[in-house]
Amino acid sequence: MKTLKKWDELAIGGIIEEPGCSHEYVTGGWRTFKPVLDLDKCIQCMFCWVYCPDTAVILEDGKVARFDYDHCKGCGICAHECPPKASAITMVPEGCEI
Ligand code: SF4
Ligand code: SF4
Repeated sequence: MKTLKKWDELAIGGIIEEPGCSHEYVTGGWRTFKPVLDLDKCIQCMFCWVYCPDTAVILEDGKVARFDYDHCKGCGICAHECPPKASAITMVPEGCEI
């Protein structure tokens, strides 16, 4: 268990010397469903990248390439926003592959 610093161990002025970073939290473990991308169907409209609240849609060379499963929480917004004519993202139960 992490012990808290005593008052006389804190930086003068309450300066935060080690700011937190959400990238260090692997929130992918919260997921019950995960998005699976079919690049053959993807039309690169970028909607999934724009709407993902966790910046878990990864671009490579300016194109949607994959998901960051360490930080994707499985909300399904990307699949919802993917245009029906593409339907390139399928939400599957965690642990299953299609
Ligand atoms: S399921 Fe949610 S968190 Fe994961 S990539 Fe899609 S929009 Fe982002
Ligand atoms: S929303 Fe669908 S079609 Fe558009 S870039 Fe993402 S996966 Fe591709």
